[in-house]
Amino acid sequence: MLNIALFGPPGAGKGTQSEFLVKKYNLFYISTGDLLRKEITEDSDIGREVKEIISSGGLVSDEIIVQIIEKSITDNPGYNGFLFDGFPRTYIQAYILEGLMLKLNTQLNSLISISVPEEESVKRLLNRGKTSGRSDDNEVVIRTRLREYYEKTIPVLQFYKEKGIYFEVDGRKNIDEVKSDITRIVKHELSKSLFNIVLFGYPGSGRATQGRALAKEFNLEFISTGELLAKEVEENTIIGKKILGLYERGQLARNEVGQMFPDDIVVPLIERKLMNVGDVKGFIFKGFPRTLVQSYILDGLIRKHTTSYIKVIELEVPVLELIRRLEKRNDTDSSMPYDANISSIIQRLQEHESRTVSVIEKYSQLHGCTKINGVGAIDDVYERIAEEIEFGLQKLK
Ligand code: AMP
Repeated sequence: MLNIALFGPPGAGKGTQSEFLVKKYNLFYISTGDLLRKEITEDSDIGREVKEIISSGGLVSDEIIVQIIEKSITDNPGYNGFLFDGFPRTYIQAYILEGLMLKLNTQLNSLISISVPEEESVKRLLNRGKTSGRSDDNEVVIRTRLREYYEKTIPVLQFYKEKGIYFEVDGRKNIDEVKSDITRIVKHELSKSLFNIVLFGYPGSGRATQGRALAKEFNLEFISTGELLAKEVEENTIIGKKILGLYERGQLARNEVGQMFPDDIVVPLIERKLMNVGDVKGFIFKGFPRTLVQSYILDGLIRKHTTSYIKVIELEVPVLELIRRLEKRNDTDSSMPYDANISSIIQRLQEHESRTVSVIEKYSQLHGCTKINGVGAIDDVYERIAEEIEFGLQKLK
């Protein structure tokens, strides 16, 4: 998701800049001022409560702001993120925004402050007052609104400076210049975001073959937890030694397929990958997450380290075809111990089913899951997945 807050004194041009931002990046626009004015027009309970405050230029209470934002922030799928205009306006509201974002499993990417000197704000608002029909666009109220801004709203900047997501543009420039300054900030933010694919499917569904080919074409890093673990053992690293210790103490069996390595071994390996993003646009995960717990871990890791997007793909192949493929694989180099005979193949498939189905369900609810027919020639299946990924990448632009 891409979530942005536009910040600045009344008259800085937040509304004007919002118009192009919401269109260009397909964002859901939330202007607390607009929402409050709508309540007033509808003569709702909230509307009656805030009418006086707004026309005198004061700030509405944080309680009311939470209510109106909660009402509009939920239930808005189909957008790439949110654009906040006129919120957060107090230090408390900055915390409220954190909570709201957390609830939606996302975060604010940047707070863009459009700076304009006080007298310029007054001049612009008086001008706007001639046509806006807003009762608060007159000089006395404008002065009160600006006082509120400098006293209560400016301290909010510190919050975002500390978070490292504060950006400033010079609002004295003309509309197009401000627009291109803002675009530059948003583009930079988007270039940091990663595109991640979680590839689900039964053993034999072609995840490794397809995942590797896709990684190459889309400049993604293919992460197979099985391979990462094997490499640690092979290179006798600290984690490798830990794994050997588990073998020696009989807590894990060497070469036994389908067994679960403890999360405190697997997770640091993935975290290391995420922290050292090389020259790639994102990751393709195969074999992780394998459990419900690991699905929470992956979402947490990705949120912690990156602004990113997760696309979940499940390769569907009928069971009989899986058995046929796995049995055939037994004669090849990529054979796994469980490919040796039909009963171990079936046991492996059952194990996968009992563990991973619930993970796929959870991911489907959270991120959606695209099911792709995995039957047919490798190249044909590849084309089907690649098309989905192209589509996902387009949506990100
Ligand atoms: P705006 O349209 O953003 O200039 O807001 C108009 C008026 O609505 C402000 O002067 C405040 O009285 C009220 N208001 C809008 N947003 C907020 C907010 N986040 N917190 C408190 N009051 C707000």
